[in-house]
Amino acid sequence: MSRRISHWIDGATAPSILARTGPVFDPSTGEITGTVELGGIDDVDAAVAAASAAFPAWRSAGLGRRAEILFRLRELVDANRKEIARLITVEHGKVLSDALGEVARGLENVEFACGIPQLMKGEYSEQAATGVDVYSIRQPLGVVAGITPFNFPAMVPMWMFANALACGNTFVLKPSEKNPSVSLFLAQLLAEAGLPRGCFNVVQGDRVAVDRLLHHPDVAAISFVGSTPVAKAVYATGTSNGKRVQALGGAKNHMLVLPDADLESAADAAVSAAYGSAGERCMAISVVLAVDTIADALVERLARRIPDIRMGPGNDPDSEMGPLISAEHRDRVCSYIEGAAADGATVAIDGRTDLPSEGYFVGPSLVDHVAPHMAVYRDEIFGPVLAVVRIASYDEGVALINDNEFGNGTAIFTRNGGAARQFARDVSVGMIGVNVPVPVPVSYYSFGGWKSSLFGSAHIYGPEGVTFYTQGKVVTTRWPDPESSTVDLGFPVVR
Ligand code: NAD
Repeated sequence: MSRRISHWIDGATAPSILARTGPVFDPSTGEITGTVELGGIDDVDAAVAAASAAFPAWRSAGLGRRAEILFRLRELVDANRKEIARLITVEHGKVLSDALGEVARGLENVEFACGIPQLMKGEYSEQAATGVDVYSIRQPLGVVAGITPFNFPAMVPMWMFANALACGNTFVLKPSEKNPSVSLFLAQLLAEAGLPRGCFNVVQGDRVAVDRLLHHPDVAAISFVGSTPVAKAVYATGTSNGKRVQALGGAKNHMLVLPDADLESAADAAVSAAYGSAGERCMAISVVLAVDTIADALVERLARRIPDIRMGPGNDPDSEMGPLISAEHRDRVCSYIEGAAADGATVAIDGRTDLPSEGYFVGPSLVDHVAPHMAVYRDEIFGPVLAVVRIASYDEGVALINDNEFGNGTAIFTRNGGAARQFARDVSVGMIGVNVPVPVPVSYYSFGGWKSSLFGSAHIYGPEGVTFYTQGKVVTTRWPDPESSTVDLGFPVVR
């Protein structure tokens, strides 16, 4: 049955009067399950007005009060893990165990933000000069907006709004129009936790809503996560309109396997990192760089594991890998497998065969003998396609990683600590795993890539999130001794 999915503004569901709409699908069947309103200028303006009106009181709420609400939210998200995961699975397609993992990684960010009284502490220097003390404080920015991708519809919003709200900002979320429902459930939990109305708003929509947020004079900052071309455009437009912007983009993450690595665990890691969530993760491994001497052995181990991956609907507890997000995306992913063969690569396992009759499934695919000029290597595919590039040496592997357009994540598999340390120093990548294939930082570090994986200087969540959502002040003070001085306003006086 098709549901209408609306906005959440000023603490309540807020249907648009003249909204354009779009379909929402169950990717495992292709069935339309909902109709999402695609917000226009009026909807964004209403959300920003509600957030602006709520800001003065929320900014003034005590740190203890804000922390208390975040602690309550923490309890509510924890109690509703299964429901949030269910909502993710029906509209995204990922398997329930993976959706539960997404909730857990999102929750970490709420837990981090519960420490806001500690995180917002400034510094104090007594007696910087005789009788002069200096202190620093950080204050919220105002209304901040989050624009989020389809692949983590609960976690990525939590990366943003937990810190943004804890710092005293009010928030407007523009989730992906492909899986909008979970954003409304999170809005309800925030309200239940005691967040005053207007502090958190959701505008459903597409580029029309995004454009309005980027131009709205009352939006102080934008956090964006999505594909590189959109991230680049959001950064350029947002900053040219005077906003603070962090825009995280796409990825092409390489896993370098040195000859001394434990090949069984490297193969296990590559398979789970390449095909988990059907490859629709910005930290998925999409390229294995295999040093020639072990390449055959590694490819044989990968190929042996792939047929055991159970593909099926995300809500079937036996499924390990679900469908892709849309029919269009499935066709695009398949075109890369076709193109790789045409370019001379070896399609060792072709995920386009024996597919279910309904839904947007593509099976795990393995493409060997890939060369850097091929589209299967160059482009972010965002599907279950793992490319193997055979290399002569560590140096060749590092050169490929550093020449790549993207710099989100990378991993090295080796038993040699010195080589791993050197790798972490050498690569132009923001997040590095040593025998860890998906090195997403825990919430008390920050997340961010280099090069075309991040536009702007601030990484997201963790300590850098607190910095991003606040601005600093430094106060220099002198208190004249009431016994010995009169008030000096700094003007020359004639006595
Ligand atoms: P997307 O860029 O298509 O969409 C992201 C958001 O931007 C959505 O809210 C969408 O409605 C909006 N949008 C889309 N086109 C727009 C346009 N032309 N103008 C303005 N707004 C627009 O990305 P997606 O397909 O939802 O997500 C997948 C992408 O996100 C992949 O490239 C993936 O690597 C990336 N991603 C990156 C990270 C990271 O942390 N670096 C995390 C998750 C996903």
